[in-house]
Amino acid sequence: MTEIIDGESVAADVRDAVADEVSRLSDAGVGPGLATVLMSDDAASETYVSMKQRDCEEVGIESFHVEIDAGAPASELYETIDDLNGRDDVHGILVQLPLPDHVDKRTVLRRIAPEKDVDGFHPENVGRLVAGDARFKPCTPHGVQKLLDAYDVETEGADAVVVGRSDIVGKPMANLLIQKSPTGNATTTVCHSRTEDLEAKLAGADIVVAAAGIPEFVDGSTLKSGATVIDVGINRVDADTEKGYELVGDVDYESAKDVAGAITPVPGGVGPMTRAMLLYNTVKAAGLQRDVAVDLE
Ligand code: NDP
Repeated sequence: MTEIIDGESVAADVRDAVADEVSRLSDAGVGPGLATVLMSDDAASETYVSMKQRDCEEVGIESFHVEIDAGAPASELYETIDDLNGRDDVHGILVQLPLPDHVDKRTVLRRIAPEKDVDGFHPENVGRLVAGDARFKPCTPHGVQKLLDAYDVETEGADAVVVGRSDIVGKPMANLLIQKSPTGNATTTVCHSRTEDLEAKLAGADIVVAAAGIPEFVDGSTLKSGATVIDVGINRVDADTEKGYELVGDVDYESAKDVAGAITPVPGGVGPMTRAMLLYNTVKAAGLQRDVAVDLE
């Protein structure tokens, strides 16, 4: 029987733990706050930001939102970040990606104070993650790690394949999987668009994390029987639905679900975990900045 990995349920547990910590922090006089910054007209980005604000409200985190015209000069975004960096009521800053072409993403991500970088994209936080001393683990790979842990998927000694090497998903995912720790210790192969014979790599994988951004790219026929399949992909494809589209992952769920030992659905797998881990990082950031211990696993 294939186990369906229920991201909604694990994310609800994370949110409950975060809500408990929020009330403990407020007893200590600290009200965690997250600022979201949107510089885009993209409808999906707008939706993601408003979901993040709603999530904050649900667990008692204060949320602040800044919208910058997509055509505004980059300096306006820099000034906004500088202002948020200096505010005591803002413990986490999230600049929604992607940014307009005239704004350099790297410069923006370096401008966020590392101790408020709840996405974990600042080079200082990337370096700490690689060194095995993470301050903030990036939300999506951290969420995947939590899912594997919640479902007792043994990573130690497992052969893992990560499909994708983005700074946001693939690279940090691989870094978490190779860490010398009980939730790491996997022998990890990172695949990308220049990888030769991806099928052979997938065929040997006990754990597959698919993050290529290509709808239904990984077919069940390429998977090892019993593999744990984590589908990070969120792709809109045209469909005869009210919205005119549906969401599919990077894995062909129908063919994969009978081969896999465990699999995440899309939606309802990794997506809710990404959102929950942002709350987790925000509370952690508040605790670190105000020197109050936060009890989150
Ligand atoms: P990117 O487009 O930044 O990266 C895609 C990666 O896939 C690249 O490294 C690319 O290789 C690789 N790739 C492309 N084609 C192939 C191929 N034919 N074979 C092997 N590898 C290939 O995407 P992201 O990492 O940002 O996101 C990946 C997916 O995850 C998307 O569907 C995105 O929507 C989703 N996502 C979901 C989240 C969630 O919460 N569930 C959060 C973030 C993203 P190369 O480097 O050579 O170009």
